Amino acid sequence: MTKSSPALPVASLANIEESTKATAILTRIAKSLAKSLQTWYQANRRDLPWRQDQNPYLIWISEVMLQQTTVAAVIPYFERFVIRFPDVHTLAKAELSEVLEHWAGLGYYSRARLLHLSAKALCQQDFPQKAELLLKLPGFGPYTSRAVASLAFGQRVGVLDGNVIRVLCRVMGFKVRWWQTAERVKLQEIADLFVQSGSPSAINQGLMELGATVCTPKNPLCILCPWNTQCVARKEDKIEQLPLKRPRKKIEFWIWKPELHVKKDKVLLVENNYAPFLKKQMLFPGTIQESPKKPKKFDARHSITHHDIYIQIAKKINYPLTNRTAGNLEHKWVAIKNLKSVNPSSLLQKVIQAGKKMI
Ligand code: SF4
Repeated sequence: MTKSSPALPVASLANIEESTKATAILTRIAKSLAKSLQTWYQANRRDLPWRQDQNPYLIWISEVMLQQTTVAAVIPYFERFVIRFPDVHTLAKAELSEVLEHWAGLGYYSRARLLHLSAKALCQQDFPQKAELLLKLPGFGPYTSRAVASLAFGQRVGVLDGNVIRVLCRVMGFKVRWWQTAERVKLQEIADLFVQSGSPSAINQGLMELGATVCTPKNPLCILCPWNTQCVARKEDKIEQLPLKRPRKKIEFWIWKPELHVKKDKVLLVENNYAPFLKKQMLFPGTIQESPKKPKKFDARHSITHHDIYIQIAKKINYPLTNRTAGNLEHKWVAIKNLKSVNPSSLLQKVIQAGKKMI
């Protein structure tokens, strides 16, 4: 093994001894890989709107939008969002309903709510430059905190998302259950080793970029990869097997019976504290129960993650609202045409469509 081109020796993280020697080997491997990755990234990076400078606000917005969504899908949303909310103060001052409107279509609306909450907190202070401080803000998980701190402020912390996990598992030949906390911690430590020299921003973005454009889940373009002579998965013909596949969450069937309370052109929404999806969001009151199998009769159907929701409109109840319905729950009457601004989920629209004859 030469100093300039260390071999990649490990087939499993479980095989890595917790010894100084093992750490030293990994550190040297990570340094060598990071160096070639940084060169590759600087020559191949895509020109994306949030990469114009190191503005922490723009990096933060883009990283939140990119969770669960592709770059191509995010670009128009990002551009529209930052034209309307160009900085943290504009975002903090805006009504939540307007923020949600600009988010509509990206899904996972709790991200937009938390973004708005964090913007309010950020107005009271300088933008924190360290991941450990960012982590204290609403909606800043380990990934977002590390991404913003390293991309905007150059902190030497690695990022770990789906792309990075795939790239690391393949290049190093790791057969690890990356969805389990203990193994994820080890992967995070390795991602951290990559940014101990060079530019943390370029290396972290390089890892993500390599995963998004070259080391793709299917048919990776190894010929274009800066690591194609070192990659363990390629050498051992195990690209298809790595990373290991996470066991699928079992699909759950739920029967939801929303009640449509109608007052002129308005319907009643309550803060959801009863359904296992769209938690804490405004939803029709009603009841819900899990079902061992798909029900035969339903008015509409909707899926949110592993929840398969079968909608059976319970009834239309006219004003006045009974205590039984809203109880002590947060509730409000919302004009049907404004439902999207209160809760943009298409689930509510499906209920309205299904209950149209009753309204
Ligand atoms: S050589 Fe192929 S499998 Fe290995 S890291 Fe590069 S793109 Fe991924």
